[in-house]
Amino acid sequence: MRFYRATSFLFPRHYEWRILIVCFGAVHLPLIAAILVQAMTGEWQIRTLLVLLGATLVGTVLGMLAIRALLAPVGKATAMLRAAQHGECLGRVPKGGDDLVGQLLTAVATSAAANAARTEQLVEAAARDPLTGLRNRRGFLDSSERVLIGEGNSVLAMIDIDHFKSVNDRFGHAAGDALLRAVGQRLERGLRHSDMAARWGGEEFVVLLPNTQLDEARLVMERLRANVALDPLLGPESTGNTWPVTFSCGLATLRSFAQLGDAAHRADAALYAAKSNGRNRVHVAESA
Ligand code: GH3
Ligand code: MG
Ligand code: MG
Repeated sequence: MRFYRATSFLFPRHYEWRILIVCFGAVHLPLIAAILVQAMTGEWQIRTLLVLLGATLVGTVLGMLAIRALLAPVGKATAMLRAAQHGECLGRVPKGGDDLVGQLLTAVATSAAANAARTEQLVEAAARDPLTGLRNRRGFLDSSERVLIGEGNSVLAMIDIDHFKSVNDRFGHAAGDALLRAVGQRLERGLRHSDMAARWGGEEFVVLLPNTQLDEARLVMERLRANVALDPLLGPESTGNTWPVTFSCGLATLRSFAQLGDAAHRADAALYAAKSNGRNRVHVAESA
């Protein structure tokens, strides 16, 4: 490392040129020796010197190209590490040979690929609700930003399971968890591929219906509400599934991601109205 550091003033950003400078000195030794001998003896053999000079220059150029090519795995390894740091896709993982640089490339490539895969898993996990497998609020907001790019009419639905606390209180937290999972599944199954359901928190879910008119969204959510209310398998098992499970829902329209916060407030107010009016119903928010 000492020699490496001591020579770092030479081409600090181009390692291959530094190697070349060292090789350049070594390659020119025969030429320098021939010049010195001929200078001391006074017998100049210009032809020999020219041949030596030409061969040295050709050797230098070829050496430079070879060094660049031989150092390519180091450049590749560095690029992979940078890509992994920035969370970019690494593509095919290269395999180096059995020599020092090849081993370095293989080690770096394998560790960068493992890091990239782990980062991807963590990013995915951070966006998912572990109980229901749906997106969590953060995942929902991230995905909404990508989905709500146009200016078309979209609808946000806030959903809250009715009297959910009673399920916990009477049948236990595990039964409550199972119900949350089941409702999450019903929501996801009952939606179009372009719609997006997420767990907003507790026993509340949110659904985004992009490029959808309000009437259409109301029909979709009414159908989901009826499906859940009439589902013979939804109630806690210990009751023979006879416990009634319903949800209330508030709808609000929006035209862009910037309006999402406001739409969430309006949908929440509509949900509150649905609860006040007897639950197990879909209520539409006042327009913005
Ligand atoms: P309402 O019809 O007015 O919505 O009444 P509710 O009982 O559904 O609503 P409330 O806000 O009173 O209770 C919600 C309960 O949801 C309270 C909380 O303990 C429970 N809860 C929140 N998160 C979870 C969870 O992850 N698992 C379970 N089992 N219960 C949860
Ligand atoms: Mg609630
Ligand atoms: Mg509730």
